[in-house]
Amino acid sequence: LSEPDRGAIMPRGRRKNLIELNIPGREKIQLRHLVSDVNGTLAVDGRLIPGVSRALSRLSDRLEIHLLTADTHGRQEQIDAVLNLKAIRIPAGDEAKTKADYVAHLGPESVIAIGQGANDREMLRTAGIGVCILSEEGLSSATLNAADILVPDIHAALGLIEKPIRMVATLRE
Ligand SMILES: [Mg+2]
Repeated sequence: LSEPDRGAIMPRGRRKNLIELNIPGREKIQLRHLVSDVNGTLAVDGRLIPGVSRALSRLSDRLEIHLLTADTHGRQEQIDAVLNLKAIRIPAGDEAKTKADYVAHLGPESVIAIGQGANDREMLRTAGIGVCILSEEGLSSATLNAADILVPDIHAALGLIEKPIRMVATLRE
């Protein structure tokens, strides 16, 4: 996992737009990367949630997209094919730390991370913005407590990136 670009949907080259957040009560945040869990977050029972592929493709103009997965359902190859990318497989072991290290390597303040499982806890805590979703596969209560924002589903999570003012509204103090 030493090369943080391996999970990017789009080849690097042309510079992405970044997303700048000016949240009252916080340092200015410049987001350049979306790091997302797959199972429970983008997929249920190993199958992509309808609409996710199109939504991710829209966002790939604005942020570098990285998918991290333990591939619980053994269906990541099919998901990769639909999304036209290669997600990063997290080896069994300390999955929470591996995911958090990946975010730290990218520059944690430049990352918005999305997840729901216990192994997403530290990555949400580490990222500049950690987004937790209520999912069909459930939500780890520890991960909920490590997140900045809870949203009802993946579409709402990706909607925060399309309309960043929603994050400002929720996080301003
Ligand atoms: Mg998960």
